[in-house]
Amino acid sequence: MRSMNRRQLLYATGLGLTGAAVARAGGLPTPPGDESEHEHGKRQAKPLDLADYEPRSMLQVRETHVARSRFPVIDIHTHISTAARSKNGVEMTAEREYAATPEELLAVMDRKNIRSMVNLTGGYGAGLRDVMGKYDRKFADRFYSFTEPDYELFLKPDYPKLQAEAIAQAHKDGARGLKILKTLGLYLRENITSGKLVKIDDPRFDPMWDACGQLNMPVAIHISDPVAFFTPTDRFNERYEELNNHPDWSFYGKDFPSNAELIEARNHVIARHPKTRFIVLHVGNFAENLANVAENLDRFENMNVDIAARIGELGRQPRTARAFFDKYQDRILFGTDATPHADNYPQQVFNDQLYEIYYRFLETDDEYFNYAPAKVPPQGRWEIYGINLPEPILRKVYNANAARELHITV
Ligand SMILES: [Zn+2]
Repeated sequence: MRSMNRRQLLYATGLGLTGAAVARAGGLPTPPGDESEHEHGKRQAKPLDLADYEPRSMLQVRETHVARSRFPVIDIHTHISTAARSKNGVEMTAEREYAATPEELLAVMDRKNIRSMVNLTGGYGAGLRDVMGKYDRKFADRFYSFTEPDYELFLKPDYPKLQAEAIAQAHKDGARGLKILKTLGLYLRENITSGKLVKIDDPRFDPMWDACGQLNMPVAIHISDPVAFFTPTDRFNERYEELNNHPDWSFYGKDFPSNAELIEARNHVIARHPKTRFIVLHVGNFAENLANVAENLDRFENMNVDIAARIGELGRQPRTARAFFDKYQDRILFGTDATPHADNYPQQVFNDQLYEIYYRFLETDDEYFNYAPAKVPPQGRWEIYGINLPEPILRKVYNANAARELHITV
């Protein structure tokens, strides 16, 4: 029996053989169409490493090439600069490293109709001022930068006050908002890199959230990751390959909170600071459950979301996603997580193809295409479908919602 596949078995039983007869049926003629696969019915399945599997879709469907977005784009979520040094997931210096020159970025931006890139990881202090001089001030309206908390200050007894003052200084220096990486909730510990994890709703950050509200600086907050990152990296994990390639991305086990606990702590912050505006990144950090995101958008008037690095999730539930965009068209911001030269992370590598895929997803009803410029879909092996948004919604998502939150006119 072991040497027979299901089709052979059906074929054999179709001849009216009993189970016992099937077991002896090694010499039966091969079913039509299977000749090349079988030698006298003794086919051995060939092993194939998952990493080597690159199936090519045989589906013949329309492929729309959207070279430029219908309306000018504000990409609310990019990373042009990063901290020069981090330890255990915590940025340890104000000094910045740059992924690309402004000129290099502007060439792609002009081709793809990107009016502005928002560099969320602008850092703080002297590092932030360096970013401002090289990008924001030199190319007005093409680059906007956000500041980040200075966790180097965390152990000082008056940290809450110092952090609020640092936000005010960053505002003076030109920062447009505050970025919170998942450092808060998943990396920052009581002794910065050791001890107990600090919770997102820890009251020591209350003055920081309030300062952002007073200064009209939106908070772009990333607090969690795909739900699969909180489950075992095993054969049931829908992002097995990604986690297997990046084991440090898993937050399963150890002392990590669950995805639900992280979202709950974040919701406490949003509820406690109604005058502060929040852009909850990566579709509210729960793109797998748009009903949950919708529920929170209904609860919190001061909450918006971006779509960065989540068209793989949105595009595999195109009908639910389209209804979500229809209902929350004033609350969704265009973002990509684009990072220049991030070649190992095709879902966020800054290039023409990445933007063309986003535009195709938003603007067409094309079916079954890769959500990233990569041979194999990098965030799970599935394909996506466009959601064909009408022009009024496209305009809001591409720029109007972001312009409102950033207090700029496009
Ligand atoms: Zn990001």
